Amino acid sequence: MPELPEVETVRRGLEPAMLGERFASVEQRRPDLRFPLPERFAERLTGRRVEALSRRAKYLIADLDDGQALVMHLGMSGRFVVEAPGTPPTEPGAYYNEIGRHLVHDHVVFHLGSGARVTYNDVRRFGFMDLVPRAGLESSRHFAGMGIEPLGNELSGELLAKLFSGKIAPLKAALLDQRLIAGLGNIYVCEALFRAGLHPEAEAGSLATPAGKPREKARLLAQIIREVLEEAVAAGGSTLRDFAHADGSLGYFQHRFRVYDREGEPCVTPGCGHLVKRLVQSGRSTFYCERCQRR
Ligand SMILES: [Zn+2]
Repeated sequence: MPELPEVETVRRGLEPAMLGERFASVEQRRPDLRFPLPERFAERLTGRRVEALSRRAKYLIADLDDGQALVMHLGMSGRFVVEAPGTPPTEPGAYYNEIGRHLVHDHVVFHLGSGARVTYNDVRRFGFMDLVPRAGLESSRHFAGMGIEPLGNELSGELLAKLFSGKIAPLKAALLDQRLIAGLGNIYVCEALFRAGLHPEAEAGSLATPAGKPREKARLLAQIIREVLEEAVAAGGSTLRDFAHADGSLGYFQHRFRVYDREGEPCVTPGCGHLVKRLVQSGRSTFYCERCQRR
């Protein structure tokens, strides 16, 4: 499943093809993805120009010149393929671990004024697209009640302390709570807690003093969360440049993990000597080192 960095990589890959361009035509090849596509979807997009392409949590948002926003979510297996005249096809943020692309799963094709073609392919069809008035976007059903953006400047030790103060929930659960921080997924939470030396079962409220001020570890964690996400975006970007020569099945974020999915392997901290452990929290695997990560 694509996590936030992969979605940001997709956004950066789509931007050159879509920003400032008009939809010359749109092919909608089925009535629904995870949800029905909006009524008259292709017709409402045709002729519209993309004025901005942004991301909020794991949603991509194209602002259109008529005040609508095209909201896109990749679900489990959604991906975009960009084909521009005179260049090989690229698949921005190719995270999907399957060789090749089955054309039968090409569900929506955007034909842009430049002659470029952007195809949405989704094997499992958990992704979706919607058209929402841009003015009401933040209060729309997709975004109402959504927490802060972890890759933005908003995330700080002060804010973590404010969000988590008094909470007895485990730190990992609080970090995954989408109402507090939006789009931070299991992999990157495990990685960030490891690098920050914080135990996943520590109380979330322990990041704050009794007065609700940030402890040093809150500042450290905020900084590390951004670092982990930014590194993953950068890794996606480098793969994007290499992609024309690859088959798309690289699993390329994997080798960068220090703790995630490494149960029973030696901790990477020099001199630690302990093995990475796994525990299940809220039905999801947590990987951690009990020596390096303290409560
Ligand atoms: Zn260790």
